[in-house]
Amino acid sequence: MPETPVPSTATSDPLRILITGSAGFVGSHLVERFLNEGHTVIGVDNYISGQVSNTDLFSDHPRFTFIEADVSHGIPYTGEKLDWVMHFASPASPPHYQQFPVETLMVGAQGTQNGLELAHAHGAGFFLASTSEVYGDPHVHPQPETYWGNVNPIGVRSCYDEAKRYAEAITMAYHRSRGVNTRIIRIFNTYGPRMRPDDGRVITNFVHQALRGEPLTVYGDGSQTRSFQYIDDLVEGISRLMMVDYHGPVNLGNPDEFTLLELAELISELCSRKLAIENRALPLDDPRQRKPDISTAKNILGWLPLVDVRSGMNKTAINEKNRIY
Ligand code: NAD
Ligand code: UDP
Repeated sequence: MPETPVPSTATSDPLRILITGSAGFVGSHLVERFLNEGHTVIGVDNYISGQVSNTDLFSDHPRFTFIEADVSHGIPYTGEKLDWVMHFASPASPPHYQQFPVETLMVGAQGTQNGLELAHAHGAGFFLASTSEVYGDPHVHPQPETYWGNVNPIGVRSCYDEAKRYAEAITMAYHRSRGVNTRIIRIFNTYGPRMRPDDGRVITNFVHQALRGEPLTVYGDGSQTRSFQYIDDLVEGISRLMMVDYHGPVNLGNPDEFTLLELAELISELCSRKLAIENRALPLDDPRQRKPDISTAKNILGWLPLVDVRSGMNKTAINEKNRIY
């Protein structure tokens, strides 16, 4: 018996989708997927943490248009009726959002509201990229969506964490009081090709340090944990959630959990040589542990991550080597 295909954007009629943050890492993979499936995409970005090369990849595509704009000040779209507004704009790596704390709060607050207003005006769906950071330094492990989190509201990460918590709150408010058809995902550490080489996140750093033959920088004693998801799994989860009528937050992440030292060893193994480790100070408020409970995504989307960290890092390293070195 053939399996019933799981509904996703791959089986949907052509859609018109506006994506904020289209020149970023995740945004550019969404653009690629939707164009390949026959949809029309409008990308919006101000390049605060994105890359022009991610826009250039699609600039000749007949179903892609790009608007350079800061979505915190408005989304200057005047085209045909949209089916979806997907709000992925926000600096996402700790060094980036700590360099631009006010801009990060603005894009989580005003940027999200501008996206919701646009969706409301078009009768479109609104899709919010939230984050596992809403759980802060969690006291519950693994983290289910029902956990309310442990965030330092005035710490160095609060510009990002509280912006996303507000973004979730205003998304639910527009859903409840104005009937907007909303989705919220909480993304756990995701990696893959096309991250900015200087974005400072651990997989980017380790991959580029390994490619350059430099020591791997481990912050603190490396006993903190993270769970790393490959980009294709995230994009599949997003595509399925768009087709399901579910408005609560959904964790999307890979529950395989590693200490940072284990991750460094894995990179050495993939390189078939022992890479030196350089210990650096642990950043302020760095969460001790993080691992998603993905029961909701499993139940409502039939979704499971398929790419393990070994093959995902391999694909990332090969791609980045060809792209940059
Ligand atoms: P990224 O920095 O690569 O991409 C974000 C993009 O948003 C960039 O191109 C940036 O220039 C753009 N942007 C930021 N502020 C803007 C503004 N005011 N107006 C227009 N464009 C703006 O980051 P990413 O990893 O691709 O993350 C994308 C989204 O997913 C973010 O909302 C992030 O919070 C969320 N997220 C990502 C991860 C992850 O592991 N990659 C984890 C949790 C949440
Ligand atoms: N980290 C590290 N070396 C690096 C970059 C980050 O050891 O070169 C650590 C960081 O302290 C954190 C984890 O790796 O504990 C994940 O950091 P990242 O910035 O990728 O994302 P976060 O989950 O902290 O937002």
